[in-house]
Amino acid sequence: MIPPNEHHASWASKNWPLPRRPSAALLVWLLVAVSAWAAPGPDFTIVALPDTQFYSASYPKISAAQTDWIVANRTRLNIVYVAQLGDITDQGDIEPEQWAHASDALYRLEKTEGLPGGIPYGVVPGNHDHRGGISQFNKFFGVEHFAGRSYYGGHLGKDNNNHFDNFRAGGLDFVVLYIDFDYDKLDYAPIDAWAEGVLKSNAHRRALVVSHDLLAVNGSFDPRGQAIYEKLRGNPNLFLMLCGHNHGEARRQDLHEGRVVMSCLSDYQSWPEGGGGYLRLYTFSPAKNLVRVQTYSPWLNRYKTDNASQFEFGYRMDGSPLAGLGVPLTEPAVVPGEIPPVK
Ligand SMILES: [Zn+2]
Repeated sequence: MIPPNEHHASWASKNWPLPRRPSAALLVWLLVAVSAWAAPGPDFTIVALPDTQFYSASYPKISAAQTDWIVANRTRLNIVYVAQLGDITDQGDIEPEQWAHASDALYRLEKTEGLPGGIPYGVVPGNHDHRGGISQFNKFFGVEHFAGRSYYGGHLGKDNNNHFDNFRAGGLDFVVLYIDFDYDKLDYAPIDAWAEGVLKSNAHRRALVVSHDLLAVNGSFDPRGQAIYEKLRGNPNLFLMLCGHNHGEARRQDLHEGRVVMSCLSDYQSWPEGGGGYLRLYTFSPAKNLVRVQTYSPWLNRYKTDNASQFEFGYRMDGSPLAGLGVPLTEPAVVPGEIPPVK
């Protein structure tokens, strides 16, 4: 794991040198320094729901168990956001009843008691959601469905295939950017230009990118993952990218201009019962500058605890101005995926 940077004082003084003439400038400096030293916010959790396609096709009770568990454990784990990783369904427009199953499960997040509008969440199309067309995705998870929700940030063009959300947790502001995927069948140039614009116009927010296919199970980038990373890595707010699609788990860290971007693959669909209900918990601890990753199935009430499924990574949240600034790489940059055993 990467230990948090413990040299706060030297870091702060190095980055904010005292002005020479004490004046209004000094007051401003003090205000900035004091706000940067504010106590870190509480821990909070982001849940990732990998490839739900087989649940939507054959095991709708498992999807429902996932979202019921998220709602039931929202307060205990301080769950602030849920991201589905694409391939919501197996057959896209070809099998509309799969969308009925998917929406029955995901809409449960919207009916969270005591939380108007529900738990903020986003979904993104994967290649399977494009089968036969993408109209069902936009019928159940389109612009009209999310428009007006406090966390909904906006979208590209007329549909919701590419969109973004905003939320605040632990005293930190986030933007979650969802990028459509269907192999080489989409025109990615305008999508990537829009994505770049979203990260630029949300430069004050810490940025996650969710796209269905980024990593192979050996930890290397797939073509779209490589392209997205190279196009967006110049944005200092980008720190985490999440994907599914390839059957297994993997992660990698890439260093660019002194900043680290973590990319994580999780997809359990090749396991019994379409994946057994396993989901990912990303628990952010601002006080420790650490993100703890766990893999858990509410359906089986079981954690998967091997190194591919449970790990930590360092990320600066202690009042520093964004991103994984200068967090050193202290573990192999690429952790190959584990081919899930058939149980
Ligand atoms: Zn896929």
